[in-house]
Amino acid sequence: MLQEMLDDTIAALRSAAARGTSELHPLETGTVSHIGGGIARIKGLPSLTYEELVEFPGKQLGIAINLEPDEIGVMLLGDSASLTAGIEVRATGREADTPVGEGLLGRVIDATGRVLDHGKPVRFNERRPFERPAPAIMDRAPVTVPLETGIKAVDAMIPIGRGQRELIVGDRQTGKTSVAIDTIINQQGKQLICIYCAVGQRGTAVARVVDTLRRHDALPYSIVVVASDEDPPGLRFVTPYAATTMAEYFMEKGRDVLIVYDDLTRHARAYREISLLLRRPPGREAYPGDIFYIHSRLLERSTHLHGDRGGGSLTALPIIETQAQDISAYIPTNLISITDGQVYLSPTLFHKGLLPAIDVGKSVSRVGGRTQFPAFRAVAGDLRLSYAQFEELETFARFATRLDEETRSTIEHGRRVREVLKQPEHRPLRTAAQIVVLKAVNAGLFDDLDLDDVSDAEYRIQRRVLGELPELCARMESGRVLQDQEWSRVLEAAGNAVSETKRGSGS
Ligand code: ATP
Ligand code: MG
Repeated sequence: MLQEMLDDTIAALRSAAARGTSELHPLETGTVSHIGGGIARIKGLPSLTYEELVEFPGKQLGIAINLEPDEIGVMLLGDSASLTAGIEVRATGREADTPVGEGLLGRVIDATGRVLDHGKPVRFNERRPFERPAPAIMDRAPVTVPLETGIKAVDAMIPIGRGQRELIVGDRQTGKTSVAIDTIINQQGKQLICIYCAVGQRGTAVARVVDTLRRHDALPYSIVVVASDEDPPGLRFVTPYAATTMAEYFMEKGRDVLIVYDDLTRHARAYREISLLLRRPPGREAYPGDIFYIHSRLLERSTHLHGDRGGGSLTALPIIETQAQDISAYIPTNLISITDGQVYLSPTLFHKGLLPAIDVGKSVSRVGGRTQFPAFRAVAGDLRLSYAQFEELETFARFATRLDEETRSTIEHGRRVREVLKQPEHRPLRTAAQIVVLKAVNAGLFDDLDLDDVSDAEYRIQRRVLGELPELCARMESGRVLQDQEWSRVLEAAGNAVSETKRGSGS
């Protein structure tokens, strides 16, 4: 008897699965018992499944995330102003999904595909769930190709590879977003798809980013996915997952993709808000216990796929905001341990005007080093160490009245290296331009220049070397090793450019 009942149930489940789960509880409805803060509590809907979509009147959607015996907790994806307690809701049998496809490129949308740029509705190939399993270990390949940010300090000393996860961390207003945006701008003509996922920011800040991307012609190969601070916490929480689903579509087609999450501190706060409203037990800093898992399962989806799986890659640049430079707080330490390194932006450097304010000593890239081109490695190899030594020496030298000649020249050289590592925002440099400038500064060509003349000399070197030695520059960027006599030609051209600066400034 029992066996028969079991068999019947299994058969019903099988046929329901074949027809789509909605058949399991086709017309099931429930009633909202409480609504507020972007969360609804619902009575009824006994066969609802975890993360199933629930439909409110007016086609509003929510995701079921708390299934308790007598009550269901649902996070809303849209505006809840018109919804009140007592209204009827309907199960849908679907899980939350997002549109994917080439039609999304150049658009500003939200996680559900709603258009935010006043354009036509988005064209999409299909819809895929927000949550998808990360690629299996066997499907992953080592990171081998560089992802050029165009920022000298990063490409030389903290190189990032395609498929890597590199955290951008720093206090507020230290240039975190700028590093990510410059990286996107630098992908022009590189066949890389970029996704900028804004979570919990003010609408005006996002509008500024979109405008920057448009002005630098970076929008046609980018998708901007937004949940602003005015959106309900549910939408802010799911947006990074949805953006990753959009990115995976391209990665699975063998493309290289870059995704920026700006920022995951606000994402964590949205999840904390939801959890507290659902009365889940708070843990450290009042975050729920599974916040680590929330972020790790998101970032696990970034990887370099094996050649058998198309060889695509998804590089992640998650951004985290620290309070008073405390990188040992809960969310920063979690993310540092999930990612393959971090670019640390220091408010002290920012206020000194050393922009981008990257603190090289606190930054690291654990897998990108292997992807750096040999010509780049040749010039960048000692830069990091000698720069750290210079910084230490400079601190001590402040207290000394008389310095020996050697210390003085080390410091003067270091100051010029620091000057060269400065870079205005939205002006990423191609790799060959970075290599020739670093080669010139390493060779001491800048040492007898005024600090004020360094940027002029830098500009002249780039123009001259890129103009006079195009085939050598192409060799540097194709990963070839340069011979000594080729380096001499680069230095000769650079030397001429520096002389030009000296003549120009009369020094
Ligand atoms: P928030 O915490 O508000 O998100 P953030 O850390 O993302 O700030 P940004 O918005 O990127 O910082 O930059 C802060 C300010 O610094 C901006 O006005 C930006 O124009 C300026 N800035 C950033 N990088 C540079 C740079 N390399 N050169 C000149 N100005 C820069
Ligand atoms: Mg920012």
